[in-house]
Amino acid sequence: GKINIAIDGPAGAGKSTIARMVANMLSYVYVDTGAMYRAATWYLKNRGIEPEEVNEVLHTVQNLGIELIPGEDGQQVHVNGQDVTAEIRSLTVSSQVSRYAQIEGLRTWLVSLQRQMALRKGVVMDGRDIGTTVLPDAEVKIYMTATVEERARRRFNEMQEQQGITLEMIARDIAERDRLDQEREVSPLRQAEDAILLDTTHLTPQEVANRIVSLSRT
Ligand code: C5P
Repeated sequence: GKINIAIDGPAGAGKSTIARMVANMLSYVYVDTGAMYRAATWYLKNRGIEPEEVNEVLHTVQNLGIELIPGEDGQQVHVNGQDVTAEIRSLTVSSQVSRYAQIEGLRTWLVSLQRQMALRKGVVMDGRDIGTTVLPDAEVKIYMTATVEERARRRFNEMQEQQGITLEMIARDIAERDRLDQEREVSPLRQAEDAILLDTTHLTPQEVANRIVSLSRT
């Protein structure tokens, strides 16, 4: 039968690349929860709502429809029908998302959406709190890490097309998000007790994906 696979870890550890590969190999559905936090951030930022304005945030997200649409080269992200796949990867959204992600009510809402998506099993879900909070009963839990330098280098290679972004800017963004994600009070980033630690610094994506697939077949 189908199972659920939870993949957590810090920014740039390769979670989304690996989760997508594993989902393809098993014919499972990939759910990128970071994209959901990014979509909410994009929407709120656009309306000039700051993360400190908690009531305004919670009121506004009631009108927010987030869709993850699987496609040929990765998923598309739609907010109220608008394609924001590219916008949510901007450095503006990246540098703000961890601040919005600390809002308890926003997390509660996104977590319940994520649980619904996994009800029928056969889901590979990546994020920060999947193994600990969203899917504590996931059959396979992975905690993926890599050194900060390696994570920044990988993100930089992905983001080359965005003009004016340097390796230093990305390294700073990643280090700051690590800090905010680990130190927050609600659902901080941490390894679930029953998660398998995978350091991907010296592994190829295919090696990491193969390892997770074989863990999922036993
Ligand atoms: O995975 P990604 O780096 O795109 O996630 C962006 C941000 O969204 C993270 O830095 C974190 O602040 C937040 N996030 C979260 N919980 C998740 C997924 C992402 O708080 N499950």
